[in-house]
Amino acid sequence: MDGHDQREHRADDGLNCPDCRLELQDYLDGTLEKKRSLSVFLHLRECAACRVEHDDLRAVFAALEALPSLEAPADFDDKILASVPYAAYQAMASLRRDRVPVFLEEQFLPVWLRARAVRLGGLVVTAAVAFAFAAGAGRGWLLAPGVAGVLPELLCRMQSAGRRLVALRRAEG
Ligand SMILES: [Zn+2]
Repeated sequence: MDGHDQREHRADDGLNCPDCRLELQDYLDGTLEKKRSLSVFLHLRECAACRVEHDDLRAVFAALEALPSLEAPADFDDKILASVPYAAYQAMASLRRDRVPVFLEEQFLPVWLRARAVRLGGLVVTAAVAFAFAAGAGRGWLLAPGVAGVLPELLCRMQSAGRRLVALRRAEG
């Protein structure tokens, strides 16, 4: 390694290549402290390798600067919202919606009770019992399943009516 190579890798001011490259972005931004900036300047004058790095970085910055600034399109918000996965959107429901008393939260009722099959099935049972009584075939033991059948649907509806009531009261202030 001759004297020239030595200078290539360690310029007079003592700034070495790794340090110089670390400073390059700040140097180009003009945010580097004056003395440090001068060190980089002197190193770049002596070191071809760092100069290449510097020129590349400057070209990238210039290209970025040259990009036209774009206005966000009018439907930008809608597009962002549309790209949010539906599950995540649902998970945020409690944040969007005004809080309601906990017994009015859908989660307050067990999942099986809220299941469409259970609600519809229950209604079918109740309807069958009502039909049996109407046809004169009603028996006392049929009353319990007849009443129980309507409960899931009834509870869900009462809950949803309760939520609407709370929302209405809030809207009225
Ligand atoms: Zn260098």
